[in-house]
Amino acid sequence: MNYQVDENGFYGNFGGAFVPEVLQKNIDELQEQYRLVLEEPEFQREMNQLLADYVGRPTPLYFARGLSKKYQTKVYLKREDLCHTGAHKINNTIGQVLLAQRLGKKKIVAETGAGQHGVATATVCALMGMECIVYMGALDMERQAPNVARMKMLGAEVRAAQSGAKTLKEAVDEALMHWIENPDDTFYIIGSVVGPHPYPDMVARFQSVISKEIKAQLQLAEGRSTPDYVIACVGGGSNATGAFYHFFDEENVRLIVAEGGGKGIDSGQTAATSFIGKTGVLHGSKTLFMQGDDGNPLEAYSISAGLDYPGFGPLYAHLKAVDRVDFLAIEDDSAMKAALELCKTEGIIPALESAHALAVLDKMVFKPEDVVVINLSGRGDKDLDNYAAYFNL
Ligand SMILES: *Cc1c(COP(=O)(O)O)cnc(C)c1O
Repeated sequence: MNYQVDENGFYGNFGGAFVPEVLQKNIDELQEQYRLVLEEPEFQREMNQLLADYVGRPTPLYFARGLSKKYQTKVYLKREDLCHTGAHKINNTIGQVLLAQRLGKKKIVAETGAGQHGVATATVCALMGMECIVYMGALDMERQAPNVARMKMLGAEVRAAQSGAKTLKEAVDEALMHWIENPDDTFYIIGSVVGPHPYPDMVARFQSVISKEIKAQLQLAEGRSTPDYVIACVGGGSNATGAFYHFFDEENVRLIVAEGGGKGIDSGQTAATSFIGKTGVLHGSKTLFMQGDDGNPLEAYSISAGLDYPGFGPLYAHLKAVDRVDFLAIEDDSAMKAALELCKTEGIIPALESAHALAVLDKMVFKPEDVVVINLSGRGDKDLDNYAAYFNL
């Protein structure tokens, strides 16, 4: 079984690059260049140096003693929450900004939903002296005001997407429109393993450092480099892909995905793509996404802003088709409970997204000798208002 993208940008039946004619030149250039640039020794040296000194890698693989005791198994947390800016997203933005520089681009455009990808992009643009424009839905700008302030503080221009529901989908549309109008000097940074080829594969490669580190860290801690389980949440799929990457071919390693179940998969308020998604083209690639009878994407819902995306990357559509990954829909209340449990047992406040992965512990039965790695994709500072409201703090 093959989990790598093929030469046409497909994972099995999913993927590809469905873009308007005006962007074809940019996409062709990226497809031709990205592997070559990523393999340049000087690119790798610069990337690895920034990951070490700026992001703070390797992030720890922490043996969670309280959770291990409670669930009677060996639970390890991969601490992406300790990355600079508070989540795994910066692994990817550093890679894409370095690539943009190598391709001679002067300006960066990105879209953001909750603001996390926007903040990571604005951060790296500030570091590298690149001009940065971030599109964000006008409604999201209201709901995520602290992240808007962060981006502005870092020197980015934040532009409000005013059409439609004024959330992520509109921000993507407007960022793409900006790229269509400025194809020569601008690089479009996508924040997850979504979009036209080569973005999903490129982002996967940038995030694969997570599982590369897990292997080495487990070898030291357990005397074997492969765990029995890796568990991660999926919005678009980038932190999960990073955590799974070097284990895809190890068929003994069970890979578990936690999707945003919202209020339940049949409630109409969910982001559980694997359960109710249908095949179609979303954001330039063929994948699964939740759609109405007209084939248009449905509004996704999850209490976690990073998971309320109506689809996921084409790799996940493929992983589902070949049954390599188990999908669980974690509802809002379960995620909240798991977040509080981590606070109380380990003294770590997780991002709400990551709490969905933690909630899997309560839904499965593990053996005492099992090694279970949970990717803690981000920290919970950004979610404190949400936690405070939910728990009446
Ligand atoms: C953005 C985000 C996610 C969801 O995105 P993926 O691409 O699926 O990883 C998950 N966790 C955190 C902390 C995020 O910021």
